[in-house]
Amino acid sequence: MIDFNIPLYMGDELYYVKDVMEKHKICGDGEYTRKCNSWFEKSFSAKHALLTTSCTHATEMAAMLCNIGYGDEVIMPSYTFVSTANAFVLRGAKVVFVDIRPDTMNINEKLIEDAITEKTKAIVPVHYAGVSCEMDTILDIAKRHNLYVIEDAAQAVMSKYKGRYLGTIGDIGCFSFHETKNFSMGEGGALLVKNDDTFEQAEIIREKGTNRSRFFRGQIDKYTWVSSGSSYLPSELNAAYLYAQLLRANEINDNRLASWNRYYEGLKHLKGSGLIDLPSIPLDCEHNAHMFYIKTKDLEERSRLISYLKSYDIYSVFHYIPLHTAPAGIKYGRFNGEDKYTSRESERLLRLPMYYGLKSDEIDLVCEKISNFYTK
Ligand SMILES: *Cc1c(COP(=O)(O)O)cnc(C)c1O
Repeated sequence: MIDFNIPLYMGDELYYVKDVMEKHKICGDGEYTRKCNSWFEKSFSAKHALLTTSCTHATEMAAMLCNIGYGDEVIMPSYTFVSTANAFVLRGAKVVFVDIRPDTMNINEKLIEDAITEKTKAIVPVHYAGVSCEMDTILDIAKRHNLYVIEDAAQAVMSKYKGRYLGTIGDIGCFSFHETKNFSMGEGGALLVKNDDTFEQAEIIREKGTNRSRFFRGQIDKYTWVSSGSSYLPSELNAAYLYAQLLRANEINDNRLASWNRYYEGLKHLKGSGLIDLPSIPLDCEHNAHMFYIKTKDLEERSRLISYLKSYDIYSVFHYIPLHTAPAGIKYGRFNGEDKYTSRESERLLRLPMYYGLKSDEIDLVCEKISNFYTK
């Protein structure tokens, strides 16, 4: 059997988790949370990083930090996970969906400006499959219209755009360490922030609206309730689990990239014959092999291929029913312009097994079966 995903487990996690247990400090914001935060700050040249309980929560924090409120509008692709939209809907904002580019499945940067109104507060680029959106164009639009850029970099840990790490390019970046992502702590995420004042506010929101973080650093002599907030800090047990993986980040990334490249080599003849499409990585982007997908002719062919692979115990999946077609999307959002690619391309996309440690002969088998499906 070839699973679609096996959550990352390197073997060193237990050592660090045990260390947490033996030190009797298992709640949040201890040694391992700090180690993870500074790992991101150093490795990605991020100004500030804060571990959170999920990417969903990091995005909710981003919405609060940007003071998104009732009646505001936020621009994003419709082809994304529900959390990208929910974080803003929870604040009472309206979500404005823009069509994607078929080559990367990312928001089409050329269509963003047309969706801006006087109510627009932020643009949320989602780096699908760990491949960057066209950030220079997006930053330029944001600057001219005075908008926040909040990167949904859930899938993009380790990826780069023009040499800069994704998540660190916009005003705020959000990572996910859910078990389906490249690095995992079960459930978890991180918030990356550029501005010092915004960071101070983020620490407060994350610590139940108190200035406890400053208290722990000895910057004030007692802590108190200073603003509205919640609890978005993960346990040290989860942080330690993640830390073990961060120490081996390059090895993990290289392993995934090797798998990705092997898939590409094994399937490119089918693209050459016009039978399938393969992902394309723009020149300015270095990706993290979060995902390997192919595109079939249409929905019907995709369903047949999923069943065909399943008959050989190979598990492939698709995702994202475009948000603007979902009941909540109709209620809370609007699609600006024409849905030229979002629906059509989402019906063609099929994700192949991808995880750290996937074996070469397993990849070759998947490629062989897909070739047989198309040529026999
Ligand atoms: C996984 C994912 C999320 C949510 O991450 P969680 O950590 O599970 O909250 C958000 N956006 C995108 C694009 C994702 O892939």
